[in-house]
Amino acid sequence: MGMMKVGVFRFDSRDEGRTLRGMWIDAHSHLADPRWGQEADQVLAEAVKSGIGFFLQGGIGPEDWEAQEKLRARHPGRIGLCFGLHPYFVAAHDEEVLEIALDALAVKLPRAMALGETGLDFRPHIMKDSRDKQITFFQQQLELATAVELPVVLHLVQAHEEALQIMDLWGLPKAGGLVHSFNGSWHKAQDFLSRSLFLSVGGPVARPDNGKLHQAVRQMPLEFLLIETDSPDQPPPAFQGGKNPPSALWHVARAIADLRGVTPGEILDITASNFRRLFQL
Ligand SMILES: [Zn+2]
Repeated sequence: MGMMKVGVFRFDSRDEGRTLRGMWIDAHSHLADPRWGQEADQVLAEAVKSGIGFFLQGGIGPEDWEAQEKLRARHPGRIGLCFGLHPYFVAAHDEEVLEIALDALAVKLPRAMALGETGLDFRPHIMKDSRDKQITFFQQQLELATAVELPVVLHLVQAHEEALQIMDLWGLPKAGGLVHSFNGSWHKAQDFLSRSLFLSVGGPVARPDNGKLHQAVRQMPLEFLLIETDSPDQPPPAFQGGKNPPSALWHVARAIADLRGVTPGEILDITASNFRRLFQL
């Protein structure tokens, strides 16, 4: 099929990897989220028009996996499936439901590009009494990702040390993974980089007061950088108060470009190439 020009995509749905060349990539979004509803097709089309051609999703639980597959059927070659039990889902359901969902995940995973979101979220309003449960299902999902040789998409909030301990004890899949919505210091960034994880940076980098993340983004090797919107969440300042559209990836790229003294296009190019390397596309 040869190289594709931005804006004139042609797809072979049997081989997304090949067709991914020449397009920019949102490494993490939720375009099947019910908050988008019918709007999903339109916001996706707008992002595609701006040159962003592929959208890896973040998985929440069984209902969301179904919704991702439906979205993908409508947009072949655009949507990367990502199935996992999100820490929110783990926190909100009892063990019995989670065991069934984990079995379903093992069956469905071969259709996905990655296992995720998995990880830990120890913010008190999310965690409540789910700390042990979150740890157990994080461990089990790491094991599962290793068994099926898929990269992991990590959601880690206020649980840095615990997450490192678990990853070191249970191991990360050989296929590696990414830390979604990395929003920490250079010190924390190094803990992930030394474990060969990619750092996916989103809307918070566009906040002028986010000096800690700015420092990390200035220091980190660009070879391990990915960019994401986390749409419809985490809007950059320009979209504050509303839903975050996938085309806002440009705002993320521009903020990082300013920090690194390059152009947004260069950030979009480098991160797309990093994404293809991580997923062996
Ligand atoms: Zn997410």
